[in-house]
Amino acid sequence: MANDAIAAIATPPGRGGIGVVRVSGPALEPTLHALAGRDLRPRQATRADFLDSTGAVIDQGLILYFRAPHSYTGEDVIELQGHGGPVVLNLLLQRCLELGARLAEPGEFTKRAFLNDKIDLAQAEGVADLIDAATAQAARCAMRSLQGDFSRRIEALVDALTELRIFVEATLDFPDEEVEFLESGKVRARLAAIRAQLAAIIAASQQGQLLRDGIHIVLTGQPNVGKSSLLNALAGTERAIVTEIPGTTRDLIRETINLREPRDPVEKIGIERTWQAVAVADLVLWVSDLTRPETCVPDPALGVRTTAGVPQLHVLNKVDLAGLEPSVRTMGGMVEVALSAKSGAGLDLLKTAVLTAAGWDVANEGAFMARERHLQALQLAQEHVTRAAGQSQVEFLAEELKLAQRALGSITGEVTADDLLGKIFSHFCIGK
Ligand code: GDP
Repeated sequence: MANDAIAAIATPPGRGGIGVVRVSGPALEPTLHALAGRDLRPRQATRADFLDSTGAVIDQGLILYFRAPHSYTGEDVIELQGHGGPVVLNLLLQRCLELGARLAEPGEFTKRAFLNDKIDLAQAEGVADLIDAATAQAARCAMRSLQGDFSRRIEALVDALTELRIFVEATLDFPDEEVEFLESGKVRARLAAIRAQLAAIIAASQQGQLLRDGIHIVLTGQPNVGKSSLLNALAGTERAIVTEIPGTTRDLIRETINLREPRDPVEKIGIERTWQAVAVADLVLWVSDLTRPETCVPDPALGVRTTAGVPQLHVLNKVDLAGLEPSVRTMGGMVEVALSAKSGAGLDLLKTAVLTAAGWDVANEGAFMARERHLQALQLAQEHVTRAAGQSQVEFLAEELKLAQRALGSITGEVTADDLLGKIFSHFCIGK
């Protein structure tokens, strides 16, 4: 439990109907008494004058008092709802500081909620994601995390791992029965069930990460094949994309890259730089011009420069000039979409192909607002569980299970380093 009180203006800067100053800390009754000039009952909205040190009225409004541990932070909390003007709110804040509170750091109220076991780390992150949500679907996703859906799925997995560990470690005391134990099928079956559960959570989390972070698409191809036109066509339909894949366009960075031999050293540097964009893309669109067969020959460099596992789609542009209909097919493992960037025909086929390639499951509404941090932990857990499944010695198997459990524990904050906490909460807004 922290031993100091923190205060902040919790409403956004500017003028508004009401403005809220929030204070959290141990034993805030004296502060409350000084502010309102009398004692107030907890959990009741009370109309009061907010007083300065001389007893003069700074503002009038509602005071809410939550006594520890029944509050957002788990400490005593006072909420002053006054008039929403920057000057008056600052005076109120100054008054709280005068009464012993210090200015809260970004996210510090939520951090205290986490430290006092009111919420776990994944839920705390859900709070920030809900505030930052750019679309309704992203908000629903964040709310699910905040309500603990994500944490409960993780906890169920941790429970299953714990049970299996108890089972496995009990066997360590009876070495003679090890082989029989491993072959009995029970361990294998349980491990298989855990792996399946993990895979399902990873899929739902990847979906959530797409919602949160968007996808970085790079358009490549020879000059004049229509990259910029396609870029504009996609940008022009951004609203349509946003309703289909909410959030994905928020941080979407699109770049177009000309594939051709550099003519001079300056161009060479420019091309090298653009290749770096390919290297960090989540998805590469290779654009060709159907009326120019030479642009449809794959550039070997593109395959080399694209990071392993990053999907590539081939766009055959200018169907209108070629007298063809828009279409989509898979050729030699590569999805090909024929369209016209100019008329827009076939753009919807491309959008669907992009979504599928990025791993978006249209039917899956149960996505979690997962962060890179969660995915890394889930993937680490998966590695350990996979290794556990391949072990023929009970000791090693037990060790892998332990490591898997530890990786999952980092998601909800059971085991989390201080510097990580600092990083997570510093991205919150002040007053949350
Ligand atoms: P970039 O160099 O690859 O970015 O190519 P641009 O987007 O600048 O396009 C080159 C030329 O092709 C422009 O004159 C475009 O208007 C034209 N163009 C692009 N897409 C299409 C298309 O689908 N149909 C037709 N008819 N022309 C197109």
